Amino acid sequence: MIVVYLLEQRTGVVYRIPCGTFHKVYVGQTSRTLKHRLAEHRRALRSGEAALSAVAEHAIKEDHTIKWDDAEVVNHAPRYWQRCALEAWHIRSEKEKMNRDEVHSQQHTTHSSTSHNHPLDYYGRYPSA
Ligand SMILES: [Zn+2]
Repeated sequence: MIVVYLLEQRTGVVYRIPCGTFHKVYVGQTSRTLKHRLAEHRRALRSGEAALSAVAEHAIKEDHTIKWDDAEVVNHAPRYWQRCALEAWHIRSEKEKMNRDEVHSQQHTTHSSTSHNHPLDYYGRYPSA
């Protein structure tokens, strides 16, 4: 489809990569194109450098096959903070994910204030209110 093709040529995108073994997905964002970032993930997997890619780490540790061909752009956002907010939102909305949660949310704390918070988080933080 022409629309999808164009989206995948765009720079500054939020994307998801599905695992082919179980229903897990990886959500990420890049200032470049999905194609470029996918090449990096695949290179990390081929060379066994799990530290460079959470997707590669998942595939190596679990011995799973990643569905690279089903990777897709979910949002196009030219600005870094927009991509971080969208990425955080998509990560939160995925039940089964490969993302390294803790590291990730710490990195983007200052950028994720525009995305929605679960009510339990709010009340958990302000129990006396
Ligand atoms: Zn998997």
